[in-house]
Amino acid sequence: MPAVPVENPLTTALSELRKAVEHLGLPEDEWTTLSTPRRILEVAVPLRRDNESVEMFKGYRVQYSTTRGPSKGGVRFHPDVDLDETIALAMLMTWKCALTNLPFGGAKGAVAVDSKKLSLRENERLTRRYTSEILPIIGPERDIPAPDVGTDDRNMAWMMDTYSVNAGYSVPGVVTGKPLVLGGSLGRNSATGDGVAIAAREALLAKGIPVEGATVAIQGFGKVGYWAAIAVEKMGMKVIAVSDVEGGVTGFNSLDDVFSHLQSTGSVVNTPGVDRITQTELLHLDVDVLIPAALSDSLTAATAPGVKARVVVEGANAPTTPEGDAALADNGVLVVPDILANSGGVVVSYFEWVQDNQVYFWTEAEIAERLNTLMLKAIFEVREYSAKHGITWREAANAIGVGRVAEAHRLRGLYP
Ligand code: GLU
Repeated sequence: MPAVPVENPLTTALSELRKAVEHLGLPEDEWTTLSTPRRILEVAVPLRRDNESVEMFKGYRVQYSTTRGPSKGGVRFHPDVDLDETIALAMLMTWKCALTNLPFGGAKGAVAVDSKKLSLRENERLTRRYTSEILPIIGPERDIPAPDVGTDDRNMAWMMDTYSVNAGYSVPGVVTGKPLVLGGSLGRNSATGDGVAIAAREALLAKGIPVEGATVAIQGFGKVGYWAAIAVEKMGMKVIAVSDVEGGVTGFNSLDDVFSHLQSTGSVVNTPGVDRITQTELLHLDVDVLIPAALSDSLTAATAPGVKARVVVEGANAPTTPEGDAALADNGVLVVPDILANSGGVVVSYFEWVQDNQVYFWTEAEIAERLNTLMLKAIFEVREYSAKHGITWREAANAIGVGRVAEAHRLRGLYP
């Protein structure tokens, strides 16, 4: 049976939005507009298993906003995902794109399936059928999917192919996070983790803590946590603990030992010569930086009060509940919110889309420099706004993102 979520992610996202709307002093009709998803598509996704049996999965695509441009956001394959969570994640994408000033609205897609229990061929068939079900509403000028939890560049290749076969020609700009040879971008795989590292560095500097030698614990060692670990060590920080779904480890001499064990067994636990720790023990380690990069609802009323890190950098989407957030604020922990900390992924997705559309590709150095520039701008804006208004970085990030969408909506006006 799926675990009962600690919070309904949609209730949490709406309460954050309400706070931002009140802070900005927006009228009630703008709250109504901002709190309503623009378009929701729920689909049934039948899958023929390798043993010829047929199973049905629920799928969704939520285009939360198209006010600032085509909607943009990943596709999540996870057994517990439902419509409310997909709406909440699509809402977060909307504020995230606005905060980094990308010309996109926000979207999210999902299939309630455990991708680890699919064979490669089943995964391909499911991805293609899901793509075909949402085909009428996606496109490079409409809505551009990307990888999220449980999907990767392979899924994006199948999505791009399914869309292109139906169009009758190649349409690389319909999804981002594709393999390089299909019009993917250099630096996209590591982009979210690279951005998390930039956010960690700037948060440490804001707290007056030296970056060199700062200690880091990372919960979740997937597409975000893995690359964040590499990026923070390149900046001179030291990763002292990591975890994946199977559990956590600390006491390793070098990350390379963990990487090679991960490669051979698929998990970081049981890396030879390390100490095993639980997820909660990892969250409570005495480190400078804690990076929750797993799923939502990790820092809660139960776990957040024990956090000893000076800085929390949210690699995952919605890892902190409102109660968890309040506990962290009470303890003087600086939290870099998800829509800022993990925006590197969608920023490089934007670069990929631009490169696909102009059919001209940039170097890795150009990508890295542009990512750094865009993220620094957003981080400085949030830092300044938070200082000016005496509010947290999360409240500041939400106010800036929501404010930009509200302004765009006001300027476009209401049709008819
Ligand atoms: N799934 C990522 C996110 O939550 C990336 C989305 C994208 O690149 O469109 O930000």
